[in-house]
Amino acid sequence: MSLRKILAAGVLLAMLSTGTMVGPMVGAVRAQEVPPNDLLLAALWTQKSVEYKANALTVFALAKIRLDQALADKSWTAAPNEQKGDFGNLPPAVVLDVDETILDNSLYQVWMLKNNQTFSTKTWNQFCADQVSLAIPGAVEFTKYADSKGVKVFYISNRDASTEKDTRANMEKLGFPMGGNVDTFLMQGEQKDWGSAKSSRRAVVTKDYRVLLNMGDNFGDFDDRYRSSPAERLAAFESDMAYWGKQWLMLPNPTYGSFDSATYSHDFKKPAAEQRKAKWDAIESWTGPK
Ligand SMILES: [Mg+2]
Repeated sequence: MSLRKILAAGVLLAMLSTGTMVGPMVGAVRAQEVPPNDLLLAALWTQKSVEYKANALTVFALAKIRLDQALADKSWTAAPNEQKGDFGNLPPAVVLDVDETILDNSLYQVWMLKNNQTFSTKTWNQFCADQVSLAIPGAVEFTKYADSKGVKVFYISNRDASTEKDTRANMEKLGFPMGGNVDTFLMQGEQKDWGSAKSSRRAVVTKDYRVLLNMGDNFGDFDDRYRSSPAERLAAFESDMAYWGKQWLMLPNPTYGSFDSATYSHDFKKPAAEQRKAKWDAIESWTGPK
């Protein structure tokens, strides 16, 4: 072997061992294989960022403070439309949404992302049956705290009633309060007037309890006017201003929700490209450099 060849081989070996050559080459190939998908950044943030975890912990820390305030103030209710009559001496309760409020389903989001799938009830129910949802940081600690103070913890979920058994098993394994001899899981479709709008289920809770807090990740967890246009949603949100951060606490969820579907009139049958165009058209831009 000539000296030149020996030197060239040495340089190649050095590049291989430091990764200066292999890294970018392998990276370039893999980068081409990653399809463009609008879920990527939101899924990365909710599943992997410490920023998301800190956000969730912040909301549940505020929830403990609000719970103590609410217990001390018998005029306090988180269900202004449903809580009727002389409710001050009813036993206390909190109502929480489940998905992306206390359960992290990012494994399902990433499955969709990596397999070019969109949401379907069929695959979602199969995911629920696997009982692999994780607890959102702070959720178990907060619900246990409420339970320890004698506050009944109700779950108002738009998971289908058929998933209740698996949802209960998943949450029990994670350590959530299960309600004892009270059925604290109010699933969509479990009763005939229990649709996706949640007021009718809150009304069931307020018959026997004073609702101290409502927690969710979607406007619809608080207000039945969620399935309207973006402008109507904003007006409804503003009319609820007295409750945000007090009786009503919202967890962040950039991966899905009525904020998204509002841009395309909640028409889930609309082709994906048209849904995407509607979102593109909905956002506002700087005019750019002069
Ligand atoms: Mg939710």
